[in-house]
Amino acid sequence: MKKYAIGVDLGGTKILAGLVNTETGEVLTSVKKKTQNNDDKPIIEKIIETIEKTILEAQISPGDISSIGIGAAGQVDREKGILMCAPNLNCYRLDIKQILENQFKLPVFLGNDVEVATIGEITFGNGIGYKNLVCIFVGTGVGSGIVCNGKVYRGSSGTAGEIGHIIVSSGGRLCGCGENGCLEAYASRTAIEKRITGAIKKGHNSVITDLVSENGSIKSKHIKKALELNDEIVYNSITEAAEYLSSGLASVINFYNPELIILGGGLIEAVDFFYDITIKKAHAKSLALASAGTKITRTGLKDFSGLVGSALLEKYYATARV
Ligand SMILES: [Zn+2]
Repeated sequence: MKKYAIGVDLGGTKILAGLVNTETGEVLTSVKKKTQNNDDKPIIEKIIETIEKTILEAQISPGDISSIGIGAAGQVDREKGILMCAPNLNCYRLDIKQILENQFKLPVFLGNDVEVATIGEITFGNGIGYKNLVCIFVGTGVGSGIVCNGKVYRGSSGTAGEIGHIIVSSGGRLCGCGENGCLEAYASRTAIEKRITGAIKKGHNSVITDLVSENGSIKSKHIKKALELNDEIVYNSITEAAEYLSSGLASVINFYNPELIILGGGLIEAVDFFYDITIKKAHAKSLALASAGTKITRTGLKDFSGLVGSALLEKYYATARV
């Protein structure tokens, strides 16, 4: 097998593509594009442009590339390579495999974004050497990949790992799934942003108003800065999110007793306070014996977990199909 593959991390807000050495995990070049611009360009065209730019920038002949792997934020049909349902991308039944194979004359493999990020972490990230672990990513939602005996566990109908919909507050806040009190209604980046903007709208003062431009989104760097400036609204929002996230983690520790939990996502990477109190509380809330056997760490590949993992899909599907 040729050693280079293209990986594409297709998230709710951005497409991140790159050329990856699948023997070492090294990312040789990467290209980022926003998924939501003010244009009507279909998402598939944006994906094609991002891959074309990656090949161009990497200065590599398509003949030296083994495959293209995509990790998409949504439900996927892995066999047929169809993105079945991706509400954040407004994408339904998109035949990604067929379209990209026709375009690039290379084999194309499709996986779910959290699943591929988990494959990235167990192959070249902080999951190396562990057989039973859970990778939890905090982003637009909260998702996780479960690794059991070295393989990604998908569940009986392929949905295992939906940690964002563990109910942490019975009858609580409404979640996007229609249920009340789910973890991601409290601990996702979306939930944190909602709580901050809601408090500002109610008339509470926050430095976020000065840090973020009008109609701009609250980024991890803004939250980090606001905490440094002792902003009460941001402090309370992050503390609340950590409280619920740690409850979710404690449930995972008690239920699965994994050797390792890897935490990822922009906020976790950028905001030490969020990460530190989450892991401290998760250990405190879980059963002593279970907690003693479970280490918690951040991702090893940072922003590239999904990109590297998707480039590995061809290899992974060939050797570890479960
Ligand atoms: Zn839910």
